[in-house]
Amino acid sequence: MSAPPPPIAPAPETPPKEAAPPKVFAAAVYECVRCGTKTTQEELARLPEVKCICGYRVFKKVRPMVVKQIKAI
Ligand SMILES: [Zn+2]
Repeated sequence: MSAPPPPIAPAPETPPKEAAPPKVFAAAVYECVRCGTKTTQEELARLPEVKCICGYRVFKKVRPMVVKQIKAI
């Protein structure tokens, strides 16, 4: 008779999936349809309500500025 094999416990640890997102200005930009003031989503989130400085509440989504990366030699 041989000793029973040790129980194999499944590893409860899972590899961390969350990778740090790159710091780029990929936030959505909104433009007031009345005065044209551009506001970022981050900025709007800080406010108690989505409202432009002119008081208008209608925004349209515009493309955020894309910073082109230039490779240095
Ligand atoms: Zn406005």
